Amino acid sequence: MNAKILRLNKAGIPVSWLTREETATLMVKDLVIWSLGNTVMEIRGGYNRVGIQSVLKLPSIVACDGKVHKENFDPPLENKFLFRRDKNICLYCGSQFSVHDLSRDHVMPLSRGGRDAWTNVVTSCRRCNNRKADRSPEESNMQLLAIPFVPNQYEFLYLSNHNVLADQMEFLSARFSRHIKLS
Ligand SMILES: [Zn+2]
Repeated sequence: MNAKILRLNKAGIPVSWLTREETATLMVKDLVIWSLGNTVMEIRGGYNRVGIQSVLKLPSIVACDGKVHKENFDPPLENKFLFRRDKNICLYCGSQFSVHDLSRDHVMPLSRGGRDAWTNVVTSCRRCNNRKADRSPEESNMQLLAIPFVPNQYEFLYLSNHNVLADQMEFLSARFSRHIKLS
């Protein structure tokens, strides 16, 4: 089990995934202000003088104190997140591929002034990417099956962890945009 713990800021917005060790440290330092979800694991500590062993229960979601950053959320554009956003489906032919057979396609090619940004990139199989070449979807007569979108913070946390627990998923998916479809 390598379940991670979802860290929220004090406003309740998800910010990162924590290891169990990191979570335990935050709890011991009293930096967790509230928590949600089921106990992921119990860590047994030392015995006190009257023979009672300390037990630290790690919840699946913890909110920590600290500054709440107000800037716009800017999720890093990496293929592993992009492919997961599109469920490993080529957005031109609609087939699902393994990660090794996928590539990042720029809807409007970079050579034509397109940007390397979430809203201009889609998952594409190598065959479709080669076929489309340096053309726009209209020029190549290849229709996009979905509109590329920037994941919000809730969606990004989901995209960046392959082992999201049920209660964490419930928390995150409540704020998913209409773009993201869960199978
Ligand atoms: Zn394809």
